[in-house]
Amino acid sequence: MIPFLDLKGVNAQYRAELIEACTEVIDSGWYVQGTEHSEFEKEFAEYCGAKYAIGVANGLDALILILRAYKELGIIKDGDEVIVPSNTYIASILAISENNLVPVLIEPDINTYLIDPSKIEEKITSKTKAIIPVHLYGQTCQMDEIIAIAKKHNLKVIEDSAQSHGAYYKDKRSGNLGDASGFSFYPGKNLGALGDGGVVTTNDEELARCIRALGNYGSHKKYENLYKGVNSRLDEMQAAMLRVKLRYLDNEIDKRKEISKYYLENIKNENIILPTVTTDSVWHLFVIRTNKRDELHKYLLDNSIQTLIHYPLAPHKQEAYSEWKNSNYAISEKIHEEVLSLPISGIQGIQDTNIIIKLLNKFDQ
Ligand SMILES: *Cc1c(COP(=O)(O)O)cnc(C)c1O
Repeated sequence: MIPFLDLKGVNAQYRAELIEACTEVIDSGWYVQGTEHSEFEKEFAEYCGAKYAIGVANGLDALILILRAYKELGIIKDGDEVIVPSNTYIASILAISENNLVPVLIEPDINTYLIDPSKIEEKITSKTKAIIPVHLYGQTCQMDEIIAIAKKHNLKVIEDSAQSHGAYYKDKRSGNLGDASGFSFYPGKNLGALGDGGVVTTNDEELARCIRALGNYGSHKKYENLYKGVNSRLDEMQAAMLRVKLRYLDNEIDKRKEISKYYLENIKNENIILPTVTTDSVWHLFVIRTNKRDELHKYLLDNSIQTLIHYPLAPHKQEAYSEWKNSNYAISEKIHEEVLSLPISGIQGIQDTNIIIKLLNKFDQ
């Protein structure tokens, strides 16, 4: 079986360094808010080209805390609207609901699967306060267009960078393209911890200070609380693991780009639509599309290839958002019915890639 993602193999590459870093944390006697955490924040901010990075417990919290901070700073209030793509992982939308804000869904571009900037303005009202572009599958959104709209209507731009660590838009990296950005270090992401983790990046000092306090019980100073905060912190162990893996992230991205280029050049089947990339992608996922998706999924599985669907059910079709049951997001639904993610990771060998390509080129159900 060729697995969708061999996480054990991915982390085995760094085993010795991870064990050494882990041992150092154990022996330090300091497990929360220590030097691993502060060093990782510095290194990750620098990697993105952003001024500030604030470690948090996971990617969802990163997005939740950005919106929460804008509320504390008086920029957004309960009931305001936030624009978000209809085609995303549900976490992007949950972060809005969690803050008593109203998600306004925008259909994606059918070729890139990313939010379609030309459809944003018609949904802007006097209550709209922010846009959350999601750099889905690792490809950066059309940020020039999105930022121009945001400037015109005085909106904050909050990147969902959970799938795009290291991806460029022109000469800047994801995490430095808007007002603030949320990243996830869920183990399967391109930069994955050995557990949960997340970070916010921003160039806004006031916002950074507010988020740091909010994630630490609302405390900016020991035993003094400015806000009714939460506990959402990146622990020393995960920060230490991430410091090791951050050093190899560009190498991981290069290998993913190589495999993707090879897929793009060699998959030749008129039933299969290959990904369209118009900006830069770090290929968190290599997503193909076909109206025979379920057949292709089964055919590959019968031939020992594991593929996954990102995602099987659109957020507006989920029970959690039953208020949207009768809404119509046809492009998003079509994408959810037709996409299939092929195996890809920095350790996937050319032999396996060739086996997958050969099977895809023979598929004619
Ligand atoms: C993974 C992911 C998140 C959430 O990250 P967690 O660390 O799992 O909470 C948010 N948005 C997108 C697009 C994601 O892929």
